Amino acid sequence: MYSSPLIEQLVEAFRCLPGVGPKSAQRMTLYLLERNPNGGKKLSEALELAIARVGKCSRCRTLTEEDICTICASRSRNRKVCCVVESPADIYAIEQTGAYKGLYFVLMGHLSPIDGIGPDQLGISELIDNVAQNDIEEVIIACNPTVEGEATAYFIAEQLRGEKALVSRIAHGVPVGGELEFIDGGTLSHALNGRKQMDLS
Ligand SMILES: [Zn+2]
Repeated sequence: MYSSPLIEQLVEAFRCLPGVGPKSAQRMTLYLLERNPNGGKKLSEALELAIARVGKCSRCRTLTEEDICTICASRSRNRKVCCVVESPADIYAIEQTGAYKGLYFVLMGHLSPIDGIGPDQLGISELIDNVAQNDIEEVIIACNPTVEGEATAYFIAEQLRGEKALVSRIAHGVPVGGELEFIDGGTLSHALNGRKQMDLS
């Protein structure tokens, strides 16, 4: 029982975040009210602005407040390669590597018939049109290596059959610095299947 309805409302509001239970929600609420009201004000302003203005890029569907996101608008990207990911967080992860200079397409999820998520929700026909209209030469499918992610990857590859773009799937396998004896069987069998010839040049 809280001493005020507003405090109770704030605790409840924090619980909409993933992984935040009643105790954490209470801790965050009291921290902001007791110790950091300015931080709380900044948070609420930033949140309100972002929710009001952020939408989807009309080309790649990632989150942005512009019609076209900065990656799609950039002249320095390779416009002939498109990497398909499940979420904007995957873009941030790939961008951090600095190893990829092409464009993206964000599904915002994976196929999940139980949750009512089908090809329409993932914008798969938009992706196919995008590949055809922009003469994309390679589509790299970087869905997660989960059962749903694999099913989604296969579905997209099937839909792209007949397009001239090369369709590839990111390799999964042994992490850099990992030791084989500690790697699970599924990962190891993926690594074996995805083996490649050693380049000695
Ligand atoms: Zn974009």
